[in-house]
Amino acid sequence: MIVRKGIYVLCCALVSVAVTPFVFAQQKHSHAHEHGKGNLEITLDKNRILSHFTSPLQALVGFERPPKNQAETDAINTLNQRLLSPATLFSVNAEAECKPTILENKIVRDAANKHADLHYQLEFTCAKPAAIKQMTIHLFKDTKHLKEVRVEFVGPSGQKSSTANAKSNTVIFN
Ligand SMILES: [Zn+2]
Repeated sequence: MIVRKGIYVLCCALVSVAVTPFVFAQQKHSHAHEHGKGNLEITLDKNRILSHFTSPLQALVGFERPPKNQAETDAINTLNQRLLSPATLFSVNAEAECKPTILENKIVRDAANKHADLHYQLEFTCAKPAAIKQMTIHLFKDTKHLKEVRVEFVGPSGQKSSTANAKSNTVIFN
């Protein structure tokens, strides 16, 4: 028994070393890293809306490796500034009086520094939850590399998937 237990521990220690944070993030959200395409998971629960946006950094600034020059540094700084104002990026219809709080805002790089994803998670707390109807994604206008956002919504009425883009940037909850 003792020997078998020892083998088991060795096995799992090796597995955990092999899994990089980047791979783990992909497995967790089951979406491939695909340039130009972001993912948005929305969960509606009573007066709270959780939104988890993930996107290749390429879709947001045009590159993913660490910045190499002033223009690229500026692009990252501009993105970071925008991310600090969540209401200008994702908004719930005004009647519901929802206020966003940033739960997660980080860039996850792969081990080779070739690919990177933004993880941006918000929690909206809504004063009038009965009025909650939809969320609008405002990222497309100033983010030319972002072509579409795959949306998965979970709410009291069930689960649904849709795709948002520059021409159709509103997710209707029903
Ligand atoms: Zn990439």
